[in-house]
Amino acid sequence: MSRALILVDVQNDFCEGGSLAVPGGAEVARRISEHVTAHHQEYAAIVATADWHEAPGAHFSDHPDFVESWPAHCRVGSDGALFHPAAQRALHHVQAVFRKGHHSAAYSGFEGFTVDADRRVGLAEWLRDRVVEQVDVVGIATDHCVRATALDAAKDGFQTTVLLHLTAAVAPQTTERALRDLREAQVRTTGEVVSG
Ligand SMILES: [Zn+2]
Repeated sequence: MSRALILVDVQNDFCEGGSLAVPGGAEVARRISEHVTAHHQEYAAIVATADWHEAPGAHFSDHPDFVESWPAHCRVGSDGALFHPAAQRALHHVQAVFRKGHHSAAYSGFEGFTVDADRRVGLAEWLRDRVVEQVDVVGIATDHCVRATALDAAKDGFQTTVLLHLTAAVAPQTTERALRDLREAQVRTTGEVVSG
C-alpha cells in the first residue's frame, strides 16, 4: 500500500524565537530531517503544509487565548512563515507544499492547496492522484494543526498515523483532548510528544 508523509507547519514562527513559539519546535524540525533522511524511500510521496496568513480574521488577536486566537504568525512573505532551517534536509525531499489560511484559521493541511500547472490542487486530491492510501502525519503543533490534519486525513479515508515523537504541542490540556479525538477517529499514534 502506498504511504505518504505529511510535514505540518514546520515554520519559524512555531519554533523557538518565533512569534508563536511552541516549546520543542526546533527539536521537532531537526528530528523530522533525521526521519526523512533515514526513511524517505519508504514513502510514495512527501509533502509539507504551511500556515500562510494574509487576513485570517479572529485567528489573530492582540489578546490571544492560545486556544482559538493567537498572536500574529506566518504572515505571507515574512521570515516567520519560512520553513525552519533545521528541517532543510527533510524539505529537500518534499514534492509539494500546501499553503493554507489566506483568509481563515485553516488548522488542517487539507484546507490548503498547491498550484500545479496553474490549477489549485488540494491535499486529498493530490494524494489520491498518486494512489496514496496511508499517511504519516508529523509537525507542529500536535494539539492544533497536526490534530486537524490527521482528523481530516482519516475522514477522507486515508489510514492515518501520527508519529508523536515528531510533533510538539502547545499545552497539556489541549494535547490530551487531541489524543482522545485522534483515537476516536481511528487515527493510530506512536511515540511520545516532544516537549521543549
Ligand atoms: Zn495560523
